[in-house]
Amino acid sequence: MEKRFQYKNPKPRCGGNLSTRWNFTEPAYRVAPHVWNVAGQDDVAAYLLDTGEGLILIDTGYEATLYLLIDRMWSLGFNPRDIKKILLSHYHGDHSQGVRLIYELTGRKAEIWLSREDEVNHQRTKDDTVPMPLLPYEVTNFYDPETPITLGRFSIRTRLTPGHTKGATSFFFEDTDEETGKTYRCAMHGGLGTGQLKPGSVAMERELNTPDDAVRFINDCLEMSNMPIDINMSSHLNQTNVDENMPEDTNDYTWFVADYSWHDMLVNRAEEVMSYYPDRYPDLVRTIPTL
Ligand SMILES: [Zn+2]
Repeated sequence: MEKRFQYKNPKPRCGGNLSTRWNFTEPAYRVAPHVWNVAGQDDVAAYLLDTGEGLILIDTGYEATLYLLIDRMWSLGFNPRDIKKILLSHYHGDHSQGVRLIYELTGRKAEIWLSREDEVNHQRTKDDTVPMPLLPYEVTNFYDPETPITLGRFSIRTRLTPGHTKGATSFFFEDTDEETGKTYRCAMHGGLGTGQLKPGSVAMERELNTPDDAVRFINDCLEMSNMPIDINMSSHLNQTNVDENMPEDTNDYTWFVADYSWHDMLVNRAEEVMSYYPDRYPDLVRTIPTL
């Protein structure tokens, strides 16, 4: 089988000027029976789940691209006011910069979820968020790996997957297509940027990471890579090279059913971090190269 969804190095969006009009737009596209990426741009995803009893949004994208998210939601027939829960994968601005404004659009009713670990980071860095200044927001709920987040047809399990940040949180759920009766196992990893685990890097210092955190990230990735996942919802489009593999029919979620994708993405990231520590991993042979 041809492997479409491979890890590719990110485009330098995050490092660019984020206060100008966004030039790299994408359509809304369906990734699972009741899930769409509505972020509207080629960098970071924002997944909308139609639970049947209101909407869940996983991550929000940038403030500068929020107009795209709102447009993509309306274009699919969804009203932002119906978002009941906003789940943040981690505290970084590219995932959370839109949260306050979306919260306002819901009449200040949506729950805002984050891990306790990243709430510490959110509080620690909120006065120092250049180049992504954050409008203030208050977390209303913290993830508990023992208690799934439930609404309508969805029951979302969470898992703390630190490394990119101390509190990066991954999401797991099933989604059934009523027309075919098929159920798909879906997952989104909470943070796979590995610069924060590179010894001596500014990013590592900023996240207060140690080499032990790198080892935990590697072990977590390798362990989770064996989970059977049908649909890998990458939090950044480059993690599965979606940009170059957009389905012709953006309503055809079966395009994203790929049993290797989650496994390969996580092994690639584990091997990337292993390569930063040659003394610890002298026999490393990369099995899943980066595109
Ligand atoms: Zn991040």
